[in-house]
Amino acid sequence: MPTPTCETTGSAARHFPRRISLPTLAKAAQKCRGCSLYCHATHVVFGEGSRTAKLLLVGEQPGDQEDRAGQPFVGPSGRLLDETLLAAGIERSTVYVTNAVKHFKWKPSPTGKRRLHSKPNWTEIAACRPWLLEELKLVAPPLLMTLGATAAQSLLGKSFKLTQHRHEFLIPELPVHLPSPPLLLATVHPSSLLRMPDKAARDAARKEFLKDFQLVAKKLASL
Ligand code: SF4
Repeated sequence: MPTPTCETTGSAARHFPRRISLPTLAKAAQKCRGCSLYCHATHVVFGEGSRTAKLLLVGEQPGDQEDRAGQPFVGPSGRLLDETLLAAGIERSTVYVTNAVKHFKWKPSPTGKRRLHSKPNWTEIAACRPWLLEELKLVAPPLLMTLGATAAQSLLGKSFKLTQHRHEFLIPELPVHLPSPPLLLATVHPSSLLRMPDKAARDAARKEFLKDFQLVAKKLASL
């Protein structure tokens, strides 16, 4: 839980290394003070995966287990993501995975024993976006998937609504130059499926989630 005493610089771009590459960025992000989320997180969780990936997945932020491990998508959401990739015929090792926000934002559970996810605000998303944009430039994938509203809004703007664009490929107007404009498909975050208490609703949502990955797999096969 961030406190007002954390000193911040306002933007991840203030912490860029002189030489830009995925490894140098990942190292520099460890010392990022762009927003206050670094204060109460264990690790920065930078993206990882294939430098030549044709598909780049953007989640919201690390969860509790990702924060402890320092790696993206290794907790329950990551397991569901892996299952879905596999079911769609996409190898996770061929994908680059990252998050819109690189530190875990959380609040204590009522008993104080657990760290509960807390949604990043627009200031935090904007402060962290320079890391994500550099990852996009360096990987330059032809296909992007955003998982959840935060990731979609980070790349498509605050007013983006997934309900209006479900199962649609979009051409995002990104604030970075890429050799060719990527296609983007926005879907839900896997954690939202895990939180659904009703089994029938959860099964239906998982089916729609898989459909998005199948659409992407089909597009990948046509590249
Ligand atoms: S969340 Fe992003 S901008 Fe904020 S401190 Fe962490 S890496 Fe920097």
